[in-house]
Amino acid sequence: MEKEMRELTQLLNKYRHDYYTNDNPSVSDAEYDKLYRQLVKLEEAYPEFIAKDSPTQGVGGLILSGFEKYQHPYPLYSLQDAFSYEELLTFDRRVKAEFPKATYIVELKIDGLSISLTYEKGKLVTGATRGDGSVGENITENLKKLKDIPRTLSEPLDITVRGEAYMSRQSFQQINQERQENGQTEFANPRNAAAGTLRQLDTSIVGKRNLASFLYQEASPSQELNQEGVLKKLKRLGFAVNDRYLMTSSMEDIWHFIEEIESEREKLSYEIDGIVIKVNNLAMQEELGFTIKAPRWAIAYKFPAEEKEATLLSVDWTIGRTGVLTPTANLTPVQLAGTTVSRATLHNVDYIAEKDIRVGDRVIVYKAGDIIPAVLRVVSDKRSSQQAMVIPKLCPSCGSDLVHLEEEVALRCINPLCPSLIQRSLEHFASRNAMNIAGLGPASVEKLYKAELIKDVADLYRLDLESLLTLEGIKEKSAEKLLSAIEESKEKSADKLLFGLGIRHVGAKASKLLLEEFESLENLIDASESAIASIDGLGSVIANSIHEYFAKKESHQLIAELKEVGVNLKYLGKRVDKTAQLFGMTVVLTGKLEQMNRNDAKAKLEELGAKVTSSVSKKTDLVIAGSEAGSKLDKARSLGIEIQDEEWLLNV
Ligand code: AMP
Ligand code: ZN
Repeated sequence: MEKEMRELTQLLNKYRHDYYTNDNPSVSDAEYDKLYRQLVKLEEAYPEFIAKDSPTQGVGGLILSGFEKYQHPYPLYSLQDAFSYEELLTFDRRVKAEFPKATYIVELKIDGLSISLTYEKGKLVTGATRGDGSVGENITENLKKLKDIPRTLSEPLDITVRGEAYMSRQSFQQINQERQENGQTEFANPRNAAAGTLRQLDTSIVGKRNLASFLYQEASPSQELNQEGVLKKLKRLGFAVNDRYLMTSSMEDIWHFIEEIESEREKLSYEIDGIVIKVNNLAMQEELGFTIKAPRWAIAYKFPAEEKEATLLSVDWTIGRTGVLTPTANLTPVQLAGTTVSRATLHNVDYIAEKDIRVGDRVIVYKAGDIIPAVLRVVSDKRSSQQAMVIPKLCPSCGSDLVHLEEEVALRCINPLCPSLIQRSLEHFASRNAMNIAGLGPASVEKLYKAELIKDVADLYRLDLESLLTLEGIKEKSAEKLLSAIEESKEKSADKLLFGLGIRHVGAKASKLLLEEFESLENLIDASESAIASIDGLGSVIANSIHEYFAKKESHQLIAELKEVGVNLKYLGKRVDKTAQLFGMTVVLTGKLEQMNRNDAKAKLEELGAKVTSSVSKKTDLVIAGSEAGSKLDKARSLGIEIQDEEWLLNV
């Protein structure tokens, strides 16, 4: 049994890794869920064999520094999203197929931060953020500063509860006003303000910021029969519970409730970004279970992005990291999704031309979720006699001529020494999906660049405390932090470095594919263009771009310098087993399989090194045909592709 459990654990961890880290699910949610439950059952029966890295115990992820990690006793899930009535109906059909009589409870979706509180004998022992759902940060001391979070419950229970910490609109406005007066940057919205506050290392600041909370879930096993009972219990125990909710089994009722809430939304004292529909009965919830990432018994309806009208006052032109000229609109201020917006992106020169956007126009501005505000279109009947937009001919940063590259619509500055371009590239190098150097944002990059401490990414690794301290406004502590973040980045897998170099067309995913193949940056430099182009998922554009980049002497120089300062050039991710039997083959599964299910078959093929795709083409190397295989099999025959059956697959 121990062996079986270990295998299940490994398999589930692989699936989680594919899902979360590679963004590339290898099994269906249902299949994952089935295996997960199997493991839970076994673990209940044989707790002595529970592996430390079992997914039920929570596995590590991306955790910010400064607070202690906290392993959640019960994982936190996100919610599946719906954006239309149709999607809600689909959800309803799925639920009702299993439970025709299911009743829903519809709650407001508070736009704050997930928190988890654990009480022992009625005393608050830990408060944590969600983190990746398995491991969060222990922010107990900060959460104790929230006035509506009880330190002691009305009953001496052992209980873990979930909820949302948020900042009211009023506190948000007040804090931003103060920040503005003090010359500090303002928070973008109440959620960011709440997040920033809860991550303060100084708890007294948290106390001053007036955060509040709504609790809505019992994470530890509940004695209650339904979610409504849970809400009542939470209230009785002393938690703040949002009493605006609806109980119904009718989707029509739910839709009316949504419309009602949407019309009142702006008047609420806190922000919401949608509503959450949950199956009320807890036993049904348990039956319905979870997918890899979300419960199957709940869905979040997200409100559509808000749109507002504003006047376009002027346009700021800047140069992005790839040299592209980027326009940002200055607008008459409008309230959008709880924040005051006076700047919005206009995307690029082409967008302006296509939509014929002119200074002086009334324009529609919108913001969806976390996305920065953007100008959507012109309100054309409100135009008087504005001139067509004047597009700069010279780089606003270095003054060199802007050019159109090849067939591109974008205008670019191609001066490699352009200050703006260099600074943006440094920011990109430090960004999260690249070398992830915390503390090296636009402001510090600008400071370092202007002080001539860095002119390329290799210079980052030559910074020392002494020179950093010569900079205005940099204190010893933050300088030390920055240096250690830079030091840590040396150990990143080389695909992060490659992505960080910001080679045209080479994104995070391509970087990974490249390093998986070539294993080190040095091998990649020596690789031929055709070898690169032949990698599945890449192609000639990327190959050409890489080839061009490494054809330059400066690029070699830079890599040599990075190596010299100790930056890792090797791929540290998952290895590809090139000796696997089906390595590099593209395989299609078709027809009904008798002994294996599709996911098992797919997993087996992948284990053998194959890439499994869904349609047959000239690129297909092998087709596995079950019974009743139809057009795909015919096509495979006509293309003369090798065909095998299930028996064959079972025996390889
Ligand atoms: P999302 O982050 O869009 O996946 O939405 C899931 C998050 O919504 C949860 O992690 C909670 O933090 C949050 N949330 C806010 N209000 C509720 C609620 N009433 N019920 C469940 N989740 C909620
Ligand atoms: Zn320039």
